[in-house]
Amino acid sequence: MSQTSTLKQPASETARFKVYTQRDLDRIAPLTGLPKDLRFEMQVVSSVLPFRVNQYVIDELVDWDRVPEDPIYQLTFPQRGMLASEMYERMATLLRRDPGKAEVQTLARELRAELNPHPAGQMQMNIPLDDAGNRLNGLQHKYRETVLFFPSQGQTCHSYCTFCFRWAQFIGDKSLRMATTEAAALHRYLERHHEVSDLLITGGDPMVMKTKHLVAYLEPLLESRFAHVQTIRIGTKALTFWPQRFVSDEDADELIHMFERLVAAGKHLAIMAHYNHWQELRTAIARHAIARLRDIGAEIRSQGPLLAHINDHANDWARLWREQVRLGIVPYYMFVERDTGARAWFEVPLARAWEIYREAIQQVSGLGRTARGPSMSAGPGKVEIQGVTEIQGERVFVLRFVQARNPDWVQRPFFARYDEQATWLDQLQPAFGEELFFFEKEYRTMQQARDIID
Ligand SMILES: *Cc1c(COP(=O)(O)O)cnc(C)c1O
Repeated sequence: MSQTSTLKQPASETARFKVYTQRDLDRIAPLTGLPKDLRFEMQVVSSVLPFRVNQYVIDELVDWDRVPEDPIYQLTFPQRGMLASEMYERMATLLRRDPGKAEVQTLARELRAELNPHPAGQMQMNIPLDDAGNRLNGLQHKYRETVLFFPSQGQTCHSYCTFCFRWAQFIGDKSLRMATTEAAALHRYLERHHEVSDLLITGGDPMVMKTKHLVAYLEPLLESRFAHVQTIRIGTKALTFWPQRFVSDEDADELIHMFERLVAAGKHLAIMAHYNHWQELRTAIARHAIARLRDIGAEIRSQGPLLAHINDHANDWARLWREQVRLGIVPYYMFVERDTGARAWFEVPLARAWEIYREAIQQVSGLGRTARGPSMSAGPGKVEIQGVTEIQGERVFVLRFVQARNPDWVQRPFFARYDEQATWLDQLQPAFGEELFFFEKEYRTMQQARDIID
């Protein structure tokens, strides 16, 4: 165990957990020093896309001398370019007229609908059905071994990421939520699905939940009927946005003890930590939180997307992975920014993404090369860009599934015509004059099957 109580904590470890949303844009201290136009731009963007930031991120992570280029500022504060200019102008024009709340809401809803709120068929295709054919909201089961669970108390985050692909869950539209309050439904599903070895608790961020709620979901997994669930993964950004959760929050010790019990009972506990930039690892408390988790035998794996304006430099990724390896974190995935929300501002062409990945991986030792990517979480599965090459005079992307709806698709190399601008799988064409990628026919059949059931 870490000697938490005997270490002197910096002030931030005990600072009150203040959070700010759109309403507060005119009173966040460092922002009030910025030009008024910039704050108006933030008002416009955050009328459409969710905004939330806490005091720790403001005080300890953002380098205000480097704003607006600072990566953490770009990661948390709304940027004008996050909306296509036509959308931006419509909302800006409305806000300049000092409109009523309802008017803003109506336009916001209209604009959001254009932003592909549920990418990769996650509402239609991933939600499993119970024996009676009812949708089990709050669960997603896309890949055989792994069930995703969205606890309803975890459907928010300590701060929001500007690029977040789950943005639709945070805008208060209940029909868009994917949560359940039912631990029982989760446990019943797991009990009946022995092919599931991994439970991934996600959100939002499950670490916004009180420990006692997490216990209700996790403690029963120690019973022998769940022996097949060998891995419990927790997807979280709290190691970045609120490391206090693991160190100094009221129920932090209770949390660590619960984790310890899971590990002692033989479960693999994997904290799937979202990291975007090495700046997130700089504070003493961030490192302290990592050390506490490592001390009790939890594994920490890191993942995050490659993003323009935040981390589209190979050196930053190499530094992030090196630091992570030093702290005992296993680099896991580099994702491609998804085709939803603010992608216009953050997307990086696939060809460039692969170059950045390659240049970064070349700079680290084998222990950092566990990071796979760049990987697209698309409808059919996670597709990794393995490289760009020339085969019989045709320039192509070499691709493979690292996860797929049909496990048989995994690890078969396939090829797409090289396209310098393409940013997502659906913009790629099969190479060598083929009509379809090898999996497409089967995937369409799967889609139709789900459309009929739904
Ligand atoms: C990424 C992902 C998983 C986990 O995949 P791994 O490769 O095992 O980490 C599970 N379900 C969904 C829907 C995912 O997107």
